Formats: sequence, structure tokens, C-alpha cells
Amino acid sequence: MFAFTKYIMYLVCLVINMNFLLDTHTHTIASGHAYSTITEMVNAAKEKGLRLLGISEHAPAMPGSCKEIYFSNLNVFSDKIKDIQLLFGIETNVLDYKGNIDVSMKTLSGLNYGIASLHTPCITPGSRQENTSAYLHVMEHPYIHVIGHPDDSRYPVDYKALVKQAKETKVLLEVNNTSLSPNSFRANARENYKEMLSLCATENVPIIVNSDAHISFDVGNFEYAISLLKEIDFPTSLIANTSVETYLSLIKQKS
Ligand SMILES: [Zn+2]
Ligand SMILES: [Zn+2]
Repeated sequence: MFAFTKYIMYLVCLVINMNFLLDTHTHTIASGHAYSTITEMVNAAKEKGLRLLGISEHAPAMPGSCKEIYFSNLNVFSDKIKDIQLLFGIETNVLDYKGNIDVSMKTLSGLNYGIASLHTPCITPGSRQENTSAYLHVMEHPYIHVIGHPDDSRYPVDYKALVKQAKETKVLLEVNNTSLSPNSFRANARENYKEMLSLCATENVPIIVNSDAHISFDVGNFEYAISLLKEIDFPTSLIANTSVETYLSLIKQKS
């Protein structure tokens, strides 16, 4: 019975996944705690039927990740490999409650997009007010287009303020599939996303679903995020993954 239910879920995800054409929060071996190469990630994106793949290595303050120089030579890649449009971004670390990050303007300006996230090795969880302040400030940054996994009760946040700022600064709020996985080390993501997504739906604020893959098998894996979005009947028109053109125009609004 359990296997049958799981099979039906798999089929449902397959059908819905057809509308999800891009995954823009992924990591390769360059991040130091991820396990696939760019070639393997592109092959996986192709197999999953994606049209666009974004690689977003952890920025240098994450222990074991690549240095800034890594990001300066990415023009060795073509824009398209095996028919997959390839973008290079970065997952920056917010370092303090003023929203300072660990990458220079010069490096950021050479990349396609920037994600900003709170990570325990790089910022101590603060009060709700302090964490919210970190997010609100970093969203003002000209090269930050996405807030990564704003879903972790270890970093409590005022979602009303976050969604309002997303609307004003045109920053996309991420729904992170890895956070929603039963193995996630992030706390209470499902409940936090329910609150955030309900505000996004009311305020007409777009979101982006990302796998946060640290291995090729997870590229384009949106299983838990899709299940949640379906459950709360979140408007498809506010999901940036359903059209490459929509996604590119959304991140362009900022830069
Ligand atoms: Zn990571
Ligand atoms: Zn992260």
C-alpha cells in the first residue's frame, strides 16, 4: 500500500515537474561539501528535462569552499551546454545583522545572480529582530537577487517584514526543497514556509523553488516543495520556475 502511494506521488511529481524548467541553487565539488562536477550536474539537468541550470557555489566564508578567484574565470564555459542554459551565481554568506556579505562587488558584478543565506558557520543566530534586520539589509544589495532558505527556526524571522521587503526590492524568496526533506538539519521549514507563502500569495510576491542540490542526483528535485505548494494551492503564476523568460526577467529587475 505504502509503495503504491509512493508511486502515485512520483507520477504526480513527474507531471507537475514538467512545468518546472529551472533549478538555480546547486553546488558542485568546488563548494567543498558537495560531490559532483559541473559536467555531472549539467547531465542531470538534461535528464530531468530542465532548460536552465544555475550553479551557485558557497562563497569563501563557508569553510572548505572556493576562493573568490574561482568565480573570476567562469567565462571558460559556454552559455549553453547540451541545450541546457547555464548560469553562474553564488550563494553568499550574510556575516552580520547589518547584512554585510563575504564577496566583493567586483566578483558579484561578474556573475549572473546572487543568493544570500544565513549559515551557522558564518553568522550566529540572533533574535527575531536581528535575523530580520540581516535579511532586510542584504536585500538592498544591488547584486542579491534571491534569499536562500529563509525557513529555519534556528534563525527566527518576521515573515511579514521579509515579504514586504521582497516586494519593494524585487528579491525572490526561495522555497528550498532540501530544507523540506525529512533529513533536513534546518528546523521547522514546513510551518515557516506555510506562513511565508500565505503572505506571498496575498501580497502577490513571486517565489523561486530550488533543490539546493549538493549531488547531481538531486538536481531538479522539487518533490517536497511541490507537495507543499499543491497542499496550500499556491498560485502557479507566482512561481519563477515555470518559465525561463519569466525567471530571467525577474532577476533582471534587480540588476
Ligand atoms: Zn552547502
Ligand atoms: Zn545555504
